[in-house]
Amino acid sequence: MRKLNIFFDVDNTLLMWDGSLRNHTRDVFQRILDQGHLIYIWSGVGIRRWEMEVNKLDHYVTDYFIKPLYDHRARLPKLGVTVEPDFVIDDHRSVVEVFGGYHIPDIATPDDEELLRVAEAIEARARGEPDGESPRLIPSDGQPPTVQG
Ligand SMILES: [Mg+2]
Repeated sequence: MRKLNIFFDVDNTLLMWDGSLRNHTRDVFQRILDQGHLIYIWSGVGIRRWEMEVNKLDHYVTDYFIKPLYDHRARLPKLGVTVEPDFVIDDHRSVVEVFGGYHIPDIATPDDEELLRVAEAIEARARGEPDGESPRLIPSDGQPPTVQG
C-alpha cells in the first residue's frame, strides 16, 4: 500500500461559501491518517492554519502551504512547497489535472457525500488500481515531479 501525500484546498473544498465545514471532513481525515497517508492543506490565498484550528482539524494536518494558482508544478519550489502532492482535492479543475486527484464540486448540498467518494478514490489509488469511473477523478498530467520528497 503506497503512502500518499494528500493535498486539500480550503475554499469551496472543505469550507463552503457560508463558512460551514463540508460533510464528513473529520471522519475522512481520520480515515486517511488511519491508512498511513499524510494530510496537507494548501490555499491560493495563504496559510490556513487558523481556519483548521477553529474547526478543530489542525491536529490531522502535517503542514500548510501556499498553492500555486498558475504554472502549478513549476512554481512549487518558489512557494516553498517541499512535499510532492500525490493526490489533490480541489474545486478548481486545473490544479487536479496537473497533480491528479479529485475535482470536487464547489457547492455542497445538505446531504453532500463527496468526501466519502474522495476517501474511496484515495484508497483505490493507494492500492495501485487504475482510476475508477468517476468523472471527478482525474489522473496527473504525467510530468515528472520537480520536488524531491
Ligand atoms: Mg477552492
